Amino acid sequence: MWFVCLTLIGVSAPVAFAAEPIRIISFGAHPDDCDLGAGGLAAKYAARGDKVKFVSLTNGDAGHQSQHGDELAKRRRAEAQEAGRRIGIEYEVLDNHDGKLLPTLEVREQVIREIRQWKADIVIAPRPNDYHPDHRYTGVLVQDASYMVIVPNLVPDTPPLPRNPIFLYYSDRFTRPQPFQADIVISIDDVFDKKINMLDAHVSQFYEWLPWTEGKLEQVPKDAAERKKWLATSMRGARELQPEWRQALTKRYGAQAEHIQHAEAFEITEYGHQPSEQEIRDLFPFFPEMAKSSRRSSE
Ligand SMILES: [Zn+2]
Repeated sequence: MWFVCLTLIGVSAPVAFAAEPIRIISFGAHPDDCDLGAGGLAAKYAARGDKVKFVSLTNGDAGHQSQHGDELAKRRRAEAQEAGRRIGIEYEVLDNHDGKLLPTLEVREQVIREIRQWKADIVIAPRPNDYHPDHRYTGVLVQDASYMVIVPNLVPDTPPLPRNPIFLYYSDRFTRPQPFQADIVISIDDVFDKKINMLDAHVSQFYEWLPWTEGKLEQVPKDAAERKKWLATSMRGARELQPEWRQALTKRYGAQAEHIQHAEAFEITEYGHQPSEQEIRDLFPFFPEMAKSSRRSSE
């Protein structure tokens, strides 16, 4: 909800109106990937009334040491929906098998439909270089959908978007063929607890499967409140602010940047709409300077 004082543009009385919400769709390979990369950002948008959807391209039916198949897929879908509910966003889990995702035309068309149906302004996905093949192919699939979302002759059952959205990558630690570039870094200090609460909904992952893969299962506290604290202090919960993100933080937060503890960083891909600095500030209305303008008044 935006309130704009029209006296600034020559109208005598202040008028309130609801501007269009910003629409964000975020893709992950597994139910919990989007949460780690953009859970804080999603919570910030959701708190403003913007529209966020997380989509997992696989059903997660391979990610556990003792459960598998339909039983695990059902559990993970329920965890994802609970995670989405906790921060007020939509969460969809597609029924492709975990560990077997391929960049097929069929899945590309699923991605095109999702982006079009959500009428996305911003699309977020992993980079196509990553240790996990499902992550890599999620990156490829979304990359292959960018541009095609505006082509009417493709996937004609779903109306095309009038213009290409901005496509972003989540942060990662991979350096070949090139390291992640932090173009947009958002402080999530104000929603860090919400992000942890969201991750906490993925019990099968953060308290069972991932600690098991790292030989740390014994470290997980049994008590629900204690394990959430443990999650918040673990690297996985924090996905810590990297020193190389500081420059982008300072650029938009000024002197406040040095006090920021938790952040999420994104790289702007070369394939979607290339935003100007003003568009970045309009679509990411979280920086201090944004208080003096609104998205609609700049259009
Ligand atoms: Zn994953």
